[in-house]
Amino acid sequence: KVSASLASSLPLRGSLPPDLRSGKQPFDSFPLSPFTLSALRASSFITATPVQRAALPHALAGRDILAAAKTGSGKTLAFVVPLVEALWRERWGPGDGLGAAVIAPTRELAVQIFEVLRGVGRNHSLAAGLITGGKREFREEQGSVVRMNVLVATPGRLLQHLEQTPGFSADALRVLVLDEADRILDLGFARQLDAILEYLPKGRQTMLFSATQTKSVRQLARLSLDKPEYISVNEKD
Ligand code: ADP
Ligand code: MG
Repeated sequence: KVSASLASSLPLRGSLPPDLRSGKQPFDSFPLSPFTLSALRASSFITATPVQRAALPHALAGRDILAAAKTGSGKTLAFVVPLVEALWRERWGPGDGLGAAVIAPTRELAVQIFEVLRGVGRNHSLAAGLITGGKREFREEQGSVVRMNVLVATPGRLLQHLEQTPGFSADALRVLVLDEADRILDLGFARQLDAILEYLPKGRQTMLFSATQTKSVRQLARLSLDKPEYISVNEKD
């Protein structure tokens, strides 16, 4: 289902084990908009985790990244924050169409990402939608996806809208995120991903996140990324 506005969301709580908080770097030491900083603070996100610390400088500079870090390391904020900032810097607004898309392997994961996006974006004026519904919800989604600035989607559903929804266009897309790319491929979505990429403009920023660096992830990276920064974080970092 597509939900209306980021402004209506509730704050999120940071809940990371203390060991991942070592080597502190506060979010307010990054060049972030006051809107994003206040939203992070309201959600008790004060210091960046290692993968956030490693990814944010490149991601905020608009570079493509391929980031591998284990589950629970905080990858979601490492792409949600730069995504929101990229659109904010362009003064992206409700009438500007689709500016960013996040692709996730499952509905459950897409829902989680969407909640983080709502938290981080709550002081921005961006329309964000979650599109992962079953067959019956497709027509309902069609009316609203055309108005969305950010979409969080599963691959099949995003492709279906690109192919079938009148007036829906990704031609202006600035940012693409592939989250849990290894699982997207494991679940057999490679062909859908290839087809989606055909609809997207070349000049975009792409961020690919994965828990593991498999051969197929590297192959996908070759297809979708442009001179990426490689970020790999393990527990000891
Ligand atoms: P991953 O995608 O790497 O598995 P998540 O993005 O789902 O990790 O984050 C795991 C948990 O860590 C979540 O509960 C999230 O709220 C929390 N978290 C993420 N970043 C921070 C941070 N900078 N400070 C405190 N908690 C955080
Ligand atoms: Mg994740």
